[in-house]
Amino acid sequence: MADCTHRTCGSVEKVWLPYYFDKRVRGLKPHPYCIECGLVKNLSFERRHSIGYFMNVLAALGKEFKVAQVQMRLVAIELEKQGIEDSFGMDRHLQEKLFIEIVKKILNIPERVVREKLPE
Ligand SMILES: [Zn+2]
Repeated sequence: MADCTHRTCGSVEKVWLPYYFDKRVRGLKPHPYCIECGLVKNLSFERRHSIGYFMNVLAALGKEFKVAQVQMRLVAIELEKQGIEDSFGMDRHLQEKLFIEIVKKILNIPERVVREKLPE
């Protein structure tokens, strides 16, 4: 997924899916998707977060919960592996969800706590 270069489908093949704005579904829109890996292109208005944004949040969590460097590194590797910066498949909403899932899984920090650390 993360290593796909992405080829967009034709306009008649688009799929109707919800799009998000301000973390809410704002209706359906035809979304193009990648014919190689099947990922649907993000059409949301909100700009994606950079990897640096998540690294800052991770650093803050690491300090607060005294996380070992090796675990921090594991999270960073996993974020990259899951393609958190994938411009095709990721929007803000999905990025945050993925980040929370990975942090929960590797560092065992509850979702509520991670969410509070995500700046607007
Ligand atoms: Zn693709």
